[in-house]
Amino acid sequence: MKLRGLLNTVRAAARAFETQNPHHIPTYNSIDFKCIPTHGRSFTSPRTSSLGLLQDQQFLWHPARYGISTAAERVSDKEADNEISTQAAALEIGLGPTRNDEKPRVVVLGTGWGAARVLKDLNTRIYDVVCISPRNHMVFTPLLASTCVGTLEFRSVAEPVRTIQPALSNAADSYFYLARCTNIDTENHEVHCEAVLNETQGEGGGEKFKVAYDKLVIGTGAEASTFGIDGVYEHAIFLRDVKNAMDIRTKLLLNLMNCEIPGKSVEEKKRLLHCVVVGGGPTGVEFSGELSDFIQRDVHRKFSHVKDLIAVTLIEAKEILSSFDVRLRQYATNQLQKTGVQLKHGMVKHVFPEKLELTDGTEVPYGLLVWSTGVGPSSFVKSLPFEKSKGGRIGVDNNLRVPGFEDVYAVGDCSGYLESTGKPVLPALAQVAERQGKYLAHSLNKLAKSGHARAGSGTSPLEPFVYKHLGSMATVGRYKALVDLRESPDKGGLSLTGFKSWLIWRSAYLTRVVSWRNRLYVAINWATTFFFGRDISRF
Ligand SMILES: Cc1cc2nc3c(=O)[nH]c(=O)nc-3n(C[C@H](O)[C@H](O)[C@H](O)COP(=O)(O)OP(=O)(O)OC[C@H]3O[C@@H](n4cnc5c(N)ncnc54)[C@H](O)[C@@H]3O)c2cc1C
Repeated sequence: MKLRGLLNTVRAAARAFETQNPHHIPTYNSIDFKCIPTHGRSFTSPRTSSLGLLQDQQFLWHPARYGISTAAERVSDKEADNEISTQAAALEIGLGPTRNDEKPRVVVLGTGWGAARVLKDLNTRIYDVVCISPRNHMVFTPLLASTCVGTLEFRSVAEPVRTIQPALSNAADSYFYLARCTNIDTENHEVHCEAVLNETQGEGGGEKFKVAYDKLVIGTGAEASTFGIDGVYEHAIFLRDVKNAMDIRTKLLLNLMNCEIPGKSVEEKKRLLHCVVVGGGPTGVEFSGELSDFIQRDVHRKFSHVKDLIAVTLIEAKEILSSFDVRLRQYATNQLQKTGVQLKHGMVKHVFPEKLELTDGTEVPYGLLVWSTGVGPSSFVKSLPFEKSKGGRIGVDNNLRVPGFEDVYAVGDCSGYLESTGKPVLPALAQVAERQGKYLAHSLNKLAKSGHARAGSGTSPLEPFVYKHLGSMATVGRYKALVDLRESPDKGGLSLTGFKSWLIWRSAYLTRVVSWRNRLYVAINWATTFFFGRDISRF
């Protein structure tokens, strides 16, 4: 009787709460606060699922700590009432802890190289997987620069995460949430998230919810470094994402067309058509090469009135492509200069809306400014309570675990070996992130087979992650590229330049593109660009 009374009170309290919070509280029908159904299914048993239904895709979650038995032991109904109102007020939307009759859940943060590889290789017969990211696709970053000038279309380099891991679309308890993780509560094994309202900006601001994990993989990448230079965020465009590439292409075409409008001085036209790239790493060099190709081939043909006014300047504080072999660096420098890219040594001090200023006082007017000076830890990573590696990344051990925090792992640009491992922090490269993702997925699959898949179930010995650098490549425009197959700068090895390298570059990346669909897109885009030139429509 007491139990039935309690149940009624629980329902009443929750209904009252639901009325006050129409977006947060679904109708529920179970006595067990830990198992508030339904996600499209109906539950009658109090020991069913930890999910509750809200508008098809969202769930009511209550921390498992509120066991019904505790409340049932209360001596008076009043006490129980008070307890229950407190509990009702603490109700949250989300996915609660998994139970023994459910699959253990791996929560993956991010859809970059590392996270995507974990998702791809995770055994979804063993695990449910929940991916949380402000981006619903993985970006094939090595080909991103080509999309800025229309050599490739944006879709060719974006791989939908649901294609990478189909369970996210069709497995009952696996989900993709377009959201940003805002906090990790390692004590309660849950992540706190905020839905993204505008995917292209990746900003949060939407519904807040929590997801409990058995295993957590952090693959949230890094952020562009600005070194605190004033005006960079406001006036420069980074080259990290498809949205950035779209902005660059739009601005470039807009400037070209604006210059043809009557009434502009030559000086103003030159400024508008001055494309400045800051950062002489592989991304900056490849983008400069792409731009010069675009100018030589397409601007000369399709914007012949202004073709002599357009220019590209690459600004670098040290030397370009510093991680490459000296001979390759020299080749790249010559090649860029041959194609009309001006190389400028200097450090940017301040960025203004139409010009930037170097530390030596030189002023450089620009119409398009692309910033590509490397990456550093994101504000999310900085906010996490984990020990950090050199460079402020999440510190990991040899198995990519975050020491001291059970069931938490980190891969890719957001992570780095702790000094205690005696290993250097690995470079921020797709090949590192991808191989870490592959290693981690296989480790998690192994752990599940040895009975360690659940939260807090310990671990079994795993082989350490071993990274072997396969080499680096970069295009420099005009069907030329560099291929550096040395394992590290101090070791010998093959290095190639020229047209052969360009063929290797193209074939290597074509085979690395994740899906057949995108492989086909890339091949077709390359062919159409070769025969008909780049698309210069501006939308
Ligand atoms: C233009 C360009 C060209 C490149 N070319 C090469 C190359 O040729 N070869 C090479 O090896 N490397 C290259 N790189 C580097 C390579 O892309 C990165 O090292 C790689 O992307 C790192 O992968 P990641 O998984 O760590 O992070 P990312 O790929 O950066 O992905 C991070 C993911 O986390 C998500 N995220 C961010 N914050 C949150 C949050 N709070 N909650 C949830 N999700 C979040 C992001 O939306 C994203 O999906 C290039 C990079 C760029 C930008």
